[in-house]
Amino acid sequence: MLRLITTLLATAVLAGCATRGPAGLDLDTSVTAISQASRVRSIVLHYTTVDDATSMKLLSRGKVSAHYLINPDGHAYRLVDESRAAWHAGASSWYGNIAMNSTSIGIELVNPGWTEGQDGQPVWHAYDDRQVRALTILLRDIIQRHGIAPENVVGHSDIAPQRKVDPGPLFPWKALAAAGIGRWYDEAGAAEHLTRLQTQGVPDVTWFQAQLLRLGYTSPQDGVLDRATINTLAAFQMHYRPARHDGQPDAETAAIMLAMP
Ligand SMILES: [Zn+2]
Repeated sequence: MLRLITTLLATAVLAGCATRGPAGLDLDTSVTAISQASRVRSIVLHYTTVDDATSMKLLSRGKVSAHYLINPDGHAYRLVDESRAAWHAGASSWYGNIAMNSTSIGIELVNPGWTEGQDGQPVWHAYDDRQVRALTILLRDIIQRHGIAPENVVGHSDIAPQRKVDPGPLFPWKALAAAGIGRWYDEAGAAEHLTRLQTQGVPDVTWFQAQLLRLGYTSPQDGVLDRATINTLAAFQMHYRPARHDGQPDAETAAIMLAMP
C-alpha cells in the first residue's frame, strides 16, 4: 500500500500535480476512482421523416437535437457530445425512468417514415442497407463503451407510445438482435406458448397491461382496452411482431411476451 501511495505521489509530481481546475483552485485530477459508471443508460432510435439536408438543419439548428444522425448512404454525423444531453426523447418513460434525455443517447436515421398509399393506407419506407450497416457499427461501439443492457436499446415508440411511431415497423430489430444488439425473445419458446394459448385462449387485458409494465412500457393497469393500451400494444408489436401492429391483444403477442426474459 505504501509503495502504491509513493508511486501515486511520484506520478502526481511528474504530472505537475495535474492542476487543471479554475483559476485560484488547487485541483488535483491525477487519481481516478475505480467505482464509477457511465450516466448513459439507454439508446433511443428515431427516424427523421425529412431528407438529409432538412434533417441536419432541424437537428443542429432547431429546438430538437440528437447525438447522431445517419444518412441513408451510411454517412454518420455526431451533433452532440455523448457526455451532454440531446433533446430527442420528449415526454417519455422506460422502466419508470422519465429523465430519458439526460440518461440516453439519441440516434436519428434519415427515413421518410410512412406516406399515404393510393388506397389511403400508410406505406412504410425501408431502411437502406448502408444505413443499417453504419448504425450497427455505431450501436456496438456505444453499447460496449457505456455498458448498455439489451432491453435499453429502444425505439422512440417504445418510450412514448402515445405520441410516436418511429423508428416504425420496418426498423430491423430482429436483424440487430441476431447481431447481438438489443433485446429479443426465445422464438422456440414463443412457438410453444402459442400452441398452448390457441387451445387455452388469449389472456385478458389486465394480463397484457401487466406484461407491458414488466417489459418496460408505460401502460394503464385498469383492465380496459382503451386507446392508450392499444397504442402501447402497437408499439410492442412494431418492435417484436411487426407483421401486424394493430394494438389488439392476440395470442401471438401474448406468446412473445411470455418468451421474453
Ligand atoms: Zn423520434
